Amino acid sequence: MSADEQPGLVPDGRPAAGPPAWVHLDWSRPPYRWDQQARPCRLCGKGAHMRDEHGRPCHKVCAEQAATTRAARAADRYQQRTM
Ligand SMILES: [Zn+2]
Repeated sequence: MSADEQPGLVPDGRPAAGPPAWVHLDWSRPPYRWDQQARPCRLCGKGAHMRDEHGRPCHKVCAEQAATTRAARAADRYQQRTM
């Protein structure tokens, strides 16, 4: 994923004006997919039918929470460097 595709970052890699309240991911197309068999989510450990871009079991909401946390941390780091 390049910097211009990362949620909460502007194309040159800097965080946007502030962290997004929630990062919404589009998992409607491959490589994301639904699988008949629930397996432990890579983030929360509960049964998940969805598979992430690497084919690992993961809830979409768990991936969105992780992306939101990463965006908030990136915004914090950027703010600390610029103050
Ligand atoms: Zn999960």
